Amino acid sequence: MRPGQVRYSLRSSNRKQHYHTGVGDGSQSASAHPGEPRHIGSGWISGVLSVILGAMGLAGVFCFLFPEILTTPEVRDAVPLEYLRALLHLVLVAAFVLGFASAVLRRNKLLGGTGLALATLAVLLGGSTIPGRAVEQSNYLGMDWFLLNLLFLALIFVPMERLFARLKEQGVFRPGWRTDLAHFFLSHLTVQVSVFLTLTPARVFFTWAVNADLQRWVAAQPVWLQFLEILVVSDFCEYWMHRFEHTVPFLWRFHAIHHSCERMDWLAASRLHLVDIVVIRAVTFIPLYVLGFANGPIFAYLVFVSFHAIFIHANVNFRFGWLDWVIATPRFHHWHHSAQFEAIDKNFAVHLPLLDKLFGSLHLPRQEWPATYGIAGNPVPENFFVHAVYPFAPRRFRRKRT
Ligand SMILES: [Zn+2]
Ligand SMILES: [Zn+2]
Repeated sequence: MRPGQVRYSLRSSNRKQHYHTGVGDGSQSASAHPGEPRHIGSGWISGVLSVILGAMGLAGVFCFLFPEILTTPEVRDAVPLEYLRALLHLVLVAAFVLGFASAVLRRNKLLGGTGLALATLAVLLGGSTIPGRAVEQSNYLGMDWFLLNLLFLALIFVPMERLFARLKEQGVFRPGWRTDLAHFFLSHLTVQVSVFLTLTPARVFFTWAVNADLQRWVAAQPVWLQFLEILVVSDFCEYWMHRFEHTVPFLWRFHAIHHSCERMDWLAASRLHLVDIVVIRAVTFIPLYVLGFANGPIFAYLVFVSFHAIFIHANVNFRFGWLDWVIATPRFHHWHHSAQFEAIDKNFAVHLPLLDKLFGSLHLPRQEWPATYGIAGNPVPENFFVHAVYPFAPRRFRRKRT
């Protein structure tokens, strides 16, 4: 039986749609104090931000202290040290100011106090004044990549989703946000391993397909044309690999983690099993490797993908009109995450809806959005650690019916 059919047959009425007011949810937030107000001006938002920025500042200080194991060569090459130092300084100042504001506004001082304590510890360890030094490394974790990307994406998407929310009641800290943040953390931390595993299959198994003359011709084309070609060939591979994941039960177990999110926003894009990430990227990289596109267009594609793949999950109500059929939009990909019968196993493309039109898997009713997200029956538990092992024993780790 195809995974999609399982998903439909198990669809039940137990799907809950809890949307909460303000930026917090009452059930799963990191700072649940029953009875404490969370509205604007209550000190809750400033407290949570202070804790997050304090923790990020402390992690940033550790990057300065242990660059050999916590920083990536690409980030060190791309961003001057003075910029990183200034950014760390700003983050710590913000953590202090917001922590202080929360402590003043809120009767319970736990949030503000925690933010202040984290920022104080970061300053005591050297803060933004730790001198840089030459780095020699072989194995490393992408902590700096995690911190910078989280800050960058949050600054773009949080205001965007607050200003143009499709589901206005769904807060920033909606149910499941911590699980998705943990996925975001792990996928960035393991960047060295995942890049290695992404590139290796093409380099090991497809050297026979490389033709130097063809590669020279491909790389000599205009940059914009190479960019479009990369988009088409990579999305073609991604479409079929993605469709396989929905069709082959063993692969579906890994991909089910991505579909287990029941709230869609920018952070939900990160809910991916590492095997899912590597398999999709490795397959996508094969044609890029064989055809030999130039570095410039590939870099442009990577920048585009890293924004676009997150954008299509965002909780935004933008209307794109005819563009909906040209490039994947949030509405297009939201339908892919729906468990409604008509949307199951539809919209596999990541960039080009035309592929779904060509291969008979497009579902994009005019101006409509799905009513629910997730997998019917909710089989995947809402737990980051269980997500890691769930594909290997889905029956054992299956969520208890509630
Ligand atoms: Zn899918
Ligand atoms: Zn998705």
